[in-house]
Amino acid sequence: MVSCNVCGERPAEVKARIESSVLLVCGQCASLGSVIARLGAQVKSQKFFAAPAKEQEVGEELVEDYALKIRAARESANLTQEEFALKLNVGLAVLKAAESNKRLDLQTAKRIEKALGIKLLLSQ
Ligand SMILES: [Zn+2]
Repeated sequence: MVSCNVCGERPAEVKARIESSVLLVCGQCASLGSVIARLGAQVKSQKFFAAPAKEQEVGEELVEDYALKIRAARESANLTQEEFALKLNVGLAVLKAAESNKRLDLQTAKRIEKALGIKLLLSQ
């Protein structure tokens, strides 16, 4: 338990702004400034910020301009996004995400490489 930054006697209960500093203070000393947050509530909210489950990291394995390469190669093959998605047997949303540089999983990247004869993966 942290003790009050002001009196040092009672346990700190709240985070308060007193003059220009933010301090952890007890209930009594909090009245010297304005309360920003209760410490109990703050501890709870930390759970909210827990690290999200790791998404599959593929960024490092793909060439930087994969989105442009896919689009350019697809267009020169005279395929619309719909046609190409069908050819790849992937959802249109998957192809759109790839062409807008949002997301591309390795399996799809490999299929696109084969279908268009381009290189998307760094490790090949
Ligand atoms: Zn105090």
